Amino acid sequence: MNVWMRRRAGWLLWWCAATVAGGWLLARLELAQLQSAFDTDARIVHRLLSQRMVQHDAVLETLALLQPAGGAGAAEQRLPSLYPQILSVQRRGPGEAWPDAGLAAAEAASRQQRRAALGPADLAQGRYWLVLAGEPASFALQLSLRDATPSAEWPATATAITMTLSHAGQRFALQPGGQAAGRWTFRAVKVLASDSQPLSLAASRTVAWTELPWWPMAAWGAAVAAVLAAARALLRQREQRRRAEELLRLGQVGRLNALGELAAGLAHELNQPLTAVLASTQAAGRLLAEDPPELETARTAMTQAAQQARRAAEVVGRLRRAVERPDTSRREPISLEARAREALHLLEPELRRRAIEAQVQPGAAPVTVLAEPVALEQIVHNLLMNALHALEQVPQGQRHLVLATGVEGGRGTLSVTDTGPGIAPQALDRLFEPFFSTREGGLGLGLSLCETLAGELGGALTAANHPPRGARFVLSLPLAHAGAAAEPAMAATP
Ligand code: ADP
Repeated sequence: MNVWMRRRAGWLLWWCAATVAGGWLLARLELAQLQSAFDTDARIVHRLLSQRMVQHDAVLETLALLQPAGGAGAAEQRLPSLYPQILSVQRRGPGEAWPDAGLAAAEAASRQQRRAALGPADLAQGRYWLVLAGEPASFALQLSLRDATPSAEWPATATAITMTLSHAGQRFALQPGGQAAGRWTFRAVKVLASDSQPLSLAASRTVAWTELPWWPMAAWGAAVAAVLAAARALLRQREQRRRAEELLRLGQVGRLNALGELAAGLAHELNQPLTAVLASTQAAGRLLAEDPPELETARTAMTQAAQQARRAAEVVGRLRRAVERPDTSRREPISLEARAREALHLLEPELRRRAIEAQVQPGAAPVTVLAEPVALEQIVHNLLMNALHALEQVPQGQRHLVLATGVEGGRGTLSVTDTGPGIAPQALDRLFEPFFSTREGGLGLGLSLCETLAGELGGALTAANHPPRGARFVLSLPLAHAGAAAEPAMAATP
């Protein structure tokens, strides 16, 4: 996986993490809201049902108190038409017997507890008897749970709740609710607030996957993607600007150094003849002084010539001073690996554009050399640019570049190896000569400058072919003293 893909995977990972975290939070909020709605609905249902139960007690108590006249068509027989949940009404007058022993037992219990008592029940069918002992007659109501259910008064959201009423091992399915397949289930169990009919109300609600807030979750994911894309673009822009500035600076330093190299050549070429002119004019002046018809004129001319020659030498000297190279005497400990990574990082767009596969191979141990940072940067940059030019001459897919660090002969080494066409044998001896170039538009000053800088740093630069194909340049530099700290490696690793 190359650097570019690794970075992409990193951004994708961030997106996934943020989307999952946000989605989880939104789902939790929605579930909390659903739970609270469920609790409220269950409370309302419990209260309404409890009220119904109390109503049954009230009907019975009214009957027992008023004791309507008995016989067929008695007033109590009209109750079912008034209350749909009352299926039938039974009365036991003095000396009469209940048709069912269960009713008799319930009456006894009612008499003892002084309130209505539950009689025989068939909860599966939603039916049960409620008996109240009275004088002279006792009354029993057969009640239908289905009709006692005030579902019309329930909140609309309560229809999703599964509800059952149970008592003494019998169950009545009050409402099937939504039969959703889901992961979250809310439950509530509460006995109805009625002493005579203590039915237990169990409510449960399963939240379906489809009820999760998918749209807000998707919107959150999209928002995260947009923010990350913007951040990525911003970072890229900043990185590009930084790279461009760095390349510009290197270019400027390179041009200045090339000028310095030029000035050094000029000075060398001009100083010799100028010194000779100076020497000969001074000699001529002396000779003329021995035999003088026009002594003064000749002396003046000679003096002026000497002055001109000195001025020319001064001009050359000034030019040289003006374009001085980096002060290679200011050395500091530098990690070769970090410098190599930094140089590759700087040229990453160039490498990608040319489809060059580049890598840094660190040695067994970190190598820290003593060098002037700008000079070292300049050498590595020049070597890399040369390798880039060489690799352009071979087909894509065969373009490899390796920067390896190590220690050889008590010196730190950085080798730059490419799989380009290599160096022609006749060119090998002349590579470091100023103005030697086989490249169209090449100045031929790069390697000569690199060699000069390496020498000034107390190191050396060598070149060789690297079988089966390609060139290898090895820069060796003095190691930093043991214990000297290396500069930290760059965060971005190409
Ligand atoms: P320029 O790059 O301007 O030609 P240099 O001094 O940097 O000047 O390089 C001199 C010459 O050395 C190049 O023209 C080229 O022939 C040869 N050269 C440098 N680097 C390589 C390389 N990696 N592979 C093959 N030849 C190289």
